[in-house]
Amino acid sequence: MPYRWPADTVLTRLELHVEDRWCHTCGGQLTVCDHRHRRLFTLNGPLHVVCKLAHCPARVCPAHPRTISPEAEPALAMPWWVLAWDVVCWLGHRRFARHWSVGQIRVELADTYQIRLSDDAIECYIHRYQQLLAARQHDPHLLAAAYADVEAVSLAIDGLQPEKGHETLYVVRELERKRVWFAEPLLSSATTEVQQLLVQARVWAEQLGKPVRLWMSDKQDAFVRGIAAEFPGVPHRYCANHFLRDVAKPVLETDSRAKVKMRHTVRGLRAIEREVLAEQSPPAPPRLPEAQGEPTRAPKAQAEEGPRDVVLDYCTAVRGILNDDQGGPLHPPGLRMAAALGEVHASLQRNLEVEKGGQPTSASRV
Ligand SMILES: [Zn+2]
Repeated sequence: MPYRWPADTVLTRLELHVEDRWCHTCGGQLTVCDHRHRRLFTLNGPLHVVCKLAHCPARVCPAHPRTISPEAEPALAMPWWVLAWDVVCWLGHRRFARHWSVGQIRVELADTYQIRLSDDAIECYIHRYQQLLAARQHDPHLLAAAYADVEAVSLAIDGLQPEKGHETLYVVRELERKRVWFAEPLLSSATTEVQQLLVQARVWAEQLGKPVRLWMSDKQDAFVRGIAAEFPGVPHRYCANHFLRDVAKPVLETDSRAKVKMRHTVRGLRAIEREVLAEQSPPAPPRLPEAQGEPTRAPKAQAEEGPRDVVLDYCTAVRGILNDDQGGPLHPPGLRMAAALGEVHASLQRNLEVEKGGQPTSASRV
């Protein structure tokens, strides 16, 4: 459906000419025979593009009936499109690199660029963007260039279910260059259907002239049998991601239990703080340490800071350690907590040693 431009749209006029002014058949000079008017959205405002179409005026020339369009026109926008390339690229980037929703894109286009489009129109252009991207990813020349200095390819296949109840999308990826080679929605995970994708992967690798070093997938029967049949002798490893996902859960559960135990053991910070603040006289204005000092730093600062401040610094450091919840299964927070508490313990121990050998400090007493 053609775009309905509001009557008050202010358009910038842009004239495009045929650059090559000479007829390739008879050598005569081309003349302008017609105009094509197009209205386009660009990120810099709407354009009224006037394409000056040319032809060879010599009636006897075989090229006479041919109309030539300005070379610059497709660089601005594809035929029939209402969006120039810059807007289409912007759309694709927001949708696929930034994962914006169509509604979010619609609002941003209207607010920032005064481009008012329906959700349908945006979806249509996103679809076109995908088609262009897929064509580019499949381009044999570009693919050959991308794999020029790769000795062998490593392939992975996985089934993704975009939405519950929808058909599963089977994606074949190449891991050396981290590219999605292709994806097909399959209604069933039957061996024969999956087999077709594996055949396609073999054809791609053969066209690139690269051996397949490795296959990775989960343990689905269709994958295990299909890869063994289509790629005999190629090692097939089970995906580390699936393995990690399976192992992550019990690791985090154990880690979480360990944290609860440690927090249960290291208690009473507030009581210590209160006691220290009350004990000290003459009463100075109560001060909470600003930075979570390194526990090992505190004893060094002891000389200038008073013992009370040292104790408060220790309390702050320990509270910071107990509240630290960052980190996933590869860096479990409980392990970090245990290590940090160990350091505090060692630091306190050093204070006690000093007390045994030298003068007592109230910090070590506490
Ligand atoms: Zn001619």
